[in-house]
Amino acid sequence: SSAGKKRYNITLLPGDGIGPEVISIAKNVLQQAGSLEGVEFSFREMPVGGASLDLVGLPLPEDTISAAKDSDAVLLGAIGGYKWDKNEKHLKPETGLLQLRAALKVFANLRPATVLPQWTLKREVAEGVDLMVVRELTGVCDHVSCQGALRLMKMTARKRRGKSCSVDKANVLDASILWRRRVTALAAEYPDVELSHMYVDNAAMQLVRDPKQFDTIVTNNIFGDILSDEASMITGSIGMLPSASLSDSGPGLFEPIHGSAPDIAGQDKANPLATILSAAMLLKYGLGEEKAAKRIEDAVLGALNKGFRTGDIYSNGTKLVGCKEMGEEVLKSVDSQV
Ligand code: ATP
Ligand code: MG
Repeated sequence: SSAGKKRYNITLLPGDGIGPEVISIAKNVLQQAGSLEGVEFSFREMPVGGASLDLVGLPLPEDTISAAKDSDAVLLGAIGGYKWDKNEKHLKPETGLLQLRAALKVFANLRPATVLPQWTLKREVAEGVDLMVVRELTGVCDHVSCQGALRLMKMTARKRRGKSCSVDKANVLDASILWRRRVTALAAEYPDVELSHMYVDNAAMQLVRDPKQFDTIVTNNIFGDILSDEASMITGSIGMLPSASLSDSGPGLFEPIHGSAPDIAGQDKANPLATILSAAMLLKYGLGEEKAAKRIEDAVLGALNKGFRTGDIYSNGTKLVGCKEMGEEVLKSVDSQV
């Protein structure tokens, strides 16, 4: 590649349902935003989930694992659908996703919940909310993954507003006492990050009462599962929310938080913004390409500012568009940036 140009290998895993529709759009947006920042991608598309079961009889073939491991980042659409729901466990599409997370050794899952000024269903409580849940992903808070998730929280808080809230149940659970001890010890290494602690029951209540008080929330697997679903509903639609799963060495895995939405698959109705924003997280948290990431985030705001909405976020006075057209509007908005 020519001097000054950065090149990354990205594995694309479209998967099932609306996955292929939203991934093809996110790929174009990634390419366009990258080209404006001197960043080039080579994409390799591989089968996963139900699509892969139909093709080769496995939800996660060896070739897909090695392509994913060899790449700089992995962008995933969605996995699963009615067609495979009765399959045995090892032949379920979702098993492929669990195997993929294990193969990539991703130990923490980042889920931002940002309410965009252009659109909110619950304006009173939600306006201005911009928080990130960092969830320990392995379920067993062994020393390594726990330390990893905590370190990640600190780094994430640094990239954001410098506040982190650790959520546990240290007044009841032994594991939480250990967790709190580690968080507190680590906090000493990051004096620029402000640390607070909250019990999980209080956190669940505070998220609904006053979500604006949070910047970064870090917590274990089970509490994170519950709190991130709760946080996602503050923003209104599942079609808007991206996620990142990170390891400390290999490529990260980036995907929308929604599923394969079989009820609307193939109808050009899916909201592609969650996947487009996952591509922005790929740039920011996976590759450290913050400028290109910002271009994508701004382009999403640009398309929303012009009033374009897919069905899930439509309201009176806005312009209803399909998946493709929304994608084209985001692309146009990347193009119009200087
Ligand atoms: P999974 O088990 O894979 O997480 P799920 O059962 O939670 O899937 P989803 O596939 O996320 O369900 O779909 C839930 C609802 O949200 C469906 O009605 C679907 O149409 C809608 N939905 C999901 N993603 C989108 C999207 N990108 N745009 C519009 N609607 C969506
Ligand atoms: Mg779900």
